[in-house]
Amino acid sequence: LLSLDGVTVRFGARAALDAVDLDVAEQETVCVLGPSGSGKSTLLRVVAGLQHADSGRVLLSGRDQSDVPVHRRGVGLMFQDHQLFPQRDAGGNVAFGLRMRGVGRVERDRRVAELLELVGLPGAGRRAVASLSGGEQQRVALARALAPEPRLLMLDEPLGQLDRGLRERLVVELRELFGRLGTTVLAVTHDQGEAFALADRVVVMREGRIAQTGTPLEVWQRPADEFVARFLGFDN
Ligand code: ATP
Ligand code: MG
Repeated sequence: LLSLDGVTVRFGARAALDAVDLDVAEQETVCVLGPSGSGKSTLLRVVAGLQHADSGRVLLSGRDQSDVPVHRRGVGLMFQDHQLFPQRDAGGNVAFGLRMRGVGRVERDRRVAELLELVGLPGAGRRAVASLSGGEQQRVALARALAPEPRLLMLDEPLGQLDRGLRERLVVELRELFGRLGTTVLAVTHDQGEAFALADRVVVMREGRIAQTGTPLEVWQRPADEFVARFLGFDN
């Protein structure tokens, strides 16, 4: 479904992404791990079309996306810092993508209620965004990203602010949901346990490059190099 072919993004002299090649298959869930500043968010933004690539190509279903505007790529992106619409209530945020697609009011209300329930916020549709805690806002942002059922869903630290119990429950429910909908997912996380529970494949990034990619088990059992081993928390 998704291919990156030698994608490079530079900020001044520094390459946030350095000739990255990556393929994500239809219905695959790929989790991107790596230290702060290694280029994880930049990777998602370049696929979404929010960040220009200095060289290389992004292909979706084999089609070069360089001239395709953000809203025509059929991808959903949940930002690391949520970016909810502050003037809309929680339900209005979740309904946004459905409204854009012309989903009727009754169906929209039903899907919004269902999604808020999924993320553990049943009945929160009328809550003002400002009245929600950080973790609650994060869950509304997750529901908003899921709502239009995009062919490629990209999540940047979707569960970052949630406590362990909620995370573990959501990981199980999300995996079930992605399987049911056949969603292809590219997710960034700092949490290895989350990546290993959610992902069919993990990608470990280092300074704008892919240090290793493989199934969680492969990466865990055979880290490609000392960097990956250290990052995973092995001492030697
Ligand atoms: P984190 O885990 O902290 O979110 P990350 O892996 O998502 O980190 P990116 O946000 O992709 O990292 O940033 C990669 C590098 O590119 C960093 O060095 C960052 O400072 C730089 N960078 C990202 N966006 C910009 C920008 N708009 N202008 C200048 N530098 C940027
Ligand atoms: Mg980031």
